[in-house]
Amino acid sequence: MTDAILVLNAGSSSIKFELFKVVEDHAETRLDGQMEGIGASPHLIARDARRQVLADQRWSGPDVADHVTALARIMDGIEPGIAGRRIIAVGHRVVHGGPDLAEPMLVNDAAMDTLGKLIPLAPLHQPHNIAGIIAASNRFPGVPQIACFDTAFHRAHAWEADTFALPPEYYERGIRRYGFHGLSYEYISDMLAREEPALAAGRVVVAHLGNGSSLCAIHKGRSVDSTMGFTALDGVPMGTRCGQIDPGVLLHLMLTEKMDAADLTGLLYGNAGLKGMSGISQDVRDLEKSADPRAAQALTYYAWRVRREIGALAAALGGIDALVFTAGIGENARNLRAKICEGLGHLGITIDAEANQANAHEIAAPGSATRVLVRATDEEAMIARHVLGVLHRSKSA
Ligand code: ADP
Repeated sequence: MTDAILVLNAGSSSIKFELFKVVEDHAETRLDGQMEGIGASPHLIARDARRQVLADQRWSGPDVADHVTALARIMDGIEPGIAGRRIIAVGHRVVHGGPDLAEPMLVNDAAMDTLGKLIPLAPLHQPHNIAGIIAASNRFPGVPQIACFDTAFHRAHAWEADTFALPPEYYERGIRRYGFHGLSYEYISDMLAREEPALAAGRVVVAHLGNGSSLCAIHKGRSVDSTMGFTALDGVPMGTRCGQIDPGVLLHLMLTEKMDAADLTGLLYGNAGLKGMSGISQDVRDLEKSADPRAAQALTYYAWRVRREIGALAAALGGIDALVFTAGIGENARNLRAKICEGLGHLGITIDAEANQANAHEIAAPGSATRVLVRATDEEAMIARHVLGVLHRSKSA
């Protein structure tokens, strides 16, 4: 029997999973996949490390009605891929660690209480993350469950980067700029420390541009500021989320158009960003193919806002030594990357058109004062690493 770690990322109607084999002190991916459409049209897909399909199954909604059943179906479906392996721990992506949790934690009853208390800070995500932990505890009784927080990497922000301009009691009540995508930023930061130690010791802006998009200013491996705030709505526009919006707009919509919290949630989370602006799709590939001027406009707005934030974060860092693009759009959307970098020459950023077209690891033009890198992120690998760290520390404690 070899040891394995299961990593789960539970959303409202999906569970993404990845199984890692433990090899000495590190974790190697063995298989991954997801169960989508829990309660509606459940679909499990799993692939092994060579991308061969291990499982591809569908059920009717009531047959996989909740996360506990979904996890049971996942484990049945990937049975052949886990034969001969013993799951020694389950790592969970948890969106919110609140103001205090800056490290991954071993989940026990007290910790579940703490995570539950954070639901009001992330009502759309935290309950599903907790459901994932409950499902895994049921399925693997006695196996350590380890929570890793998307907010944790940002917890060393200075007060001025964390606060809103409200009376201090709001800050005390937890109304703060938490920042998200922390596991991705930590992964990139660790990678730079290994591959580019001189850059990692400097000032880096990481643009995590995916369906959810944000940017982070990192100095000497620590997050200094980030574009996301109290929720994952703030900052740059995203697939379906609005990004920065004047709060006065919300007051206007409530007062004059009588929109309530549910209406605004639907608009800001689900029908804004690239999808809302274009009326076509949240996917950059669809928009690039479309001849509809609204598609081009949405991409122009996206690039414009990302460029503004790069400037803002460079100011927060007092300069910039490297810009790193990551996540689905950051790693693949060449045209959008070029558009974002247009006009950033004043920050020493000039890209090489050919390298950019090739999605090369380094896309800065020769002589560009600032390095411009493209790197794949891997939040699940970061979680697996954290799980090993927690297990190691609890052994030696
Ligand atoms: P998530 O936040 O869901 O993890 P990803 O990081 O996978 O999202 O990013 C998904 C987005 O990446 C897609 O919606 C698409 O817009 C973009 N993307 C992926 N591949 C390409 C590509 N080849 N060209 C342009 N955009 C791409």
